[in-house]
Amino acid sequence: MKQSLIGMNLDELREAVTACGGKPFQAGQLAQWLYAKRELNFDAMTNLSKELRAKLAENYSLLTSSVIAREDSGEGTTKLGIRLHDGLVVEAVLMREDERTTACISTQAGCAMGCRFCASGQLGLKRHLTAGEILEEFYHLYEVMKPDWLTNVVVMGMGEPLHNFDNLLKALTILNADWAFNFGARRVTVSTVGLPKRIRELAEQGFQFNLAISLHGVDDESRSALIPTNAGLAEILDAAKYYFEKTRREVTFEYTLVGGKNDDIATAEKLAALVKDFPRANVNLIPMNPVEGSGLDAPSTEAVNAFTEVLQKAGVNVHVRRRRGRRVQAACGQLRLKLESASVGTTDEHG
Ligand code: SAH
Repeated sequence: MKQSLIGMNLDELREAVTACGGKPFQAGQLAQWLYAKRELNFDAMTNLSKELRAKLAENYSLLTSSVIAREDSGEGTTKLGIRLHDGLVVEAVLMREDERTTACISTQAGCAMGCRFCASGQLGLKRHLTAGEILEEFYHLYEVMKPDWLTNVVVMGMGEPLHNFDNLLKALTILNADWAFNFGARRVTVSTVGLPKRIRELAEQGFQFNLAISLHGVDDESRSALIPTNAGLAEILDAAKYYFEKTRREVTFEYTLVGGKNDDIATAEKLAALVKDFPRANVNLIPMNPVEGSGLDAPSTEAVNAFTEVLQKAGVNVHVRRRRGRRVQAACGQLRLKLESASVGTTDEHG
């Protein structure tokens, strides 16, 4: 298989260009075409010589994945099923509302975190996506929104981004770099189940990405019941504070409400107390989107309202991801489950 140019940093592009007989500085031109302009046709890269273009096309590939399914909600949301070169399927979602065009992207095929309410967790981890594969999601979404471009990116699709730290960081570095996509770090949000060491490591990279932490419980007992890989609430909150201190970016807490498990008033009060320690307490409530076989249910509307009210009264900045959450983020992994059931079976049979 030819190596893809998508996902290469400037040094790697320089190597590719010079190996094909080009000059080192032409890596910058190639990066402009590839990343800034999202041009996937070598023939259109007119400031590169014909010979260089031919050599690049001969030795390297561009997209290694393809769209095999598309679901339009009719409310500005489009979900893509993307087939990777080895047959695994991940999803990417485009959400358009008012002035915002947001991409929700995946970083792994499957997930190792095992959250009880999550469809991706049921399958376990198939593999990490490479930096190139993560970036390829943007090209597929661009086909849907062309000629518009994104205003925001949320890393809230399939997988645990900080579990695939190096590839995530490489992809986000290329997304942010002025020689590449030049996409503002403050418009990117990384959502994590809460891996304290990795949160600290991300804080030290010198980027201003937004961080969202999936809390889902107010003490380790309740949290571990939903997240078997829970790293410990105290450690996670410490790491979140560290992230804020280093980056000065506010941290958002996501909280999936599961019917009868973590959606009662007493829990809401504990949650308010927990997050009030933070400079500005942001909470996103996500009513659980029921996943077959999970044995868990959505919360009642009354419970969601009562929970929200407790937080509001405590002065917490709280949002409920109701409509959108159902269709997009909260439905994380479900499209892939459906699409892959056949191909996963085949893969397994052949080892
Ligand atoms: N691994 C990352 C990204 C996961 S998806 C993380 O844990 O944050 C983004 C959010 O959707 C997470 O808060 C996740 O817990 C939540 N989520 C996943 N499946 C859900 C479901 N079926 N219903 C409601 N929220 C869900």
